[in-house]
Amino acid sequence: MQSLLIKNGLVIDPVCGEALNDILLKGGRISRLARRIKPPPGCQVFDAAGLWVFPGFIDAHVHAREPGAEAAETLESAARAAAAGGITAALLMPNTSPALATAALVKKYRRRAAGLPAALYFSAAATAGRSGKRTSNLSALKNAGALAFTDDGSCLPRGLLAGLIKKAAALGLPLLDHPEEFSRTGRGVINAGPAARRLGLPGIPPEAELFAVLRDLLAASAAGPIHLQHLSLASSVGALRAAKKLGWPVTGETCPHYFTLSDADIKTDCADYKMKPPLRSPADRRAVLAAIADRTIDLIASDHAPHERRLKAKGFKGAPFGIIGLETLAPLCVTALVLAGRITKMRLAELVSLNPARLLGLKRKGRLRPGFDADLTLLDPRRVRRVPAEFVSKSANSPFIGMPLRGWPAATIAAGKMVFCK
Ligand SMILES: [Zn+2]
Repeated sequence: MQSLLIKNGLVIDPVCGEALNDILLKGGRISRLARRIKPPPGCQVFDAAGLWVFPGFIDAHVHAREPGAEAAETLESAARAAAAGGITAALLMPNTSPALATAALVKKYRRRAAGLPAALYFSAAATAGRSGKRTSNLSALKNAGALAFTDDGSCLPRGLLAGLIKKAAALGLPLLDHPEEFSRTGRGVINAGPAARRLGLPGIPPEAELFAVLRDLLAASAAGPIHLQHLSLASSVGALRAAKKLGWPVTGETCPHYFTLSDADIKTDCADYKMKPPLRSPADRRAVLAAIADRTIDLIASDHAPHERRLKAKGFKGAPFGIIGLETLAPLCVTALVLAGRITKMRLAELVSLNPARLLGLKRKGRLRPGFDADLTLLDPRRVRRVPAEFVSKSANSPFIGMPLRGWPAATIAAGKMVFCK
């Protein structure tokens, strides 16, 4: 049985705190933690002195584009990009072509994802064919191995929402919603605000997100749990905070771009800044940071959305929505949250590992304790490096290229194996 000893790292557990410890990994699990562990015979040793050792990051919002857009990304390239970004597990969104909406497709792509460097999990379409017209066969999708339901890319339909919430809850799987009132988005491609006016582009008003968030929160208060994806607004995190105070069964995520950028950063008609929801105002960005710090936001996910360069070259009006994020999530979180003094390392471990593990029911992930899966993310808090223009991902649509960041992955360990080492 292969074993691996990680020595001298600062080990960060989201519940127990941080301490200098060695970690022995054996048979795909964490075997022991102690200040000093003597390497057993034949054991591989990795010196993690100066590194932060986190439980493997779990990205609950990833588009791997297979099937349908393999020129932008595949399961294989997404898993390698994840490993390079310190992400040991990812939940894939079902808005592929065809949509992941049948048990047969979920089984087929789960088989194709087996053995890749990061664990890829699948969410399945909540409505048949992601059409919004009728509910999918949720129990068949669960039996095929889906871990969550969502129509991401589209908002869950109003008429089916309460029924979907109840059925997902009865099956014990999370229901995730992309909160967007499309009638308010209209032809909008950028946040309605100064950047839209300056560039002469049609704006997306805040109520396109807020109305759907309010609708979802109210539905949850009556029917059961719902998880809100990629929140970007001061008003939506405010509504989530108020709903939580009332004890409603709601959780929410945001993405690194919403707390590191705003529409004030959009200087030209460059579609590497185009995503949904759009980059909002500087005040919204500050409100999202506050919501991360005060626990209104439960988790941070990348919403990794790769697109071919030729499509993104079309500018805001013609290009598809979305930016890549697997390889920049860790350094953006470390630089903008931890090193900026807004949250502790323990809180980061909660946001990117423990809470996503809980949402997805991954009981042996999210912590660094004996018996848990040997998934580890080792980050270097000292070395400054600019985001390169080339990525492991097949796509390079990132607004962060050239930005100096700290907290880059030094090594990634998934299921006890070193899947990335810089
Ligand atoms: Zn979405």
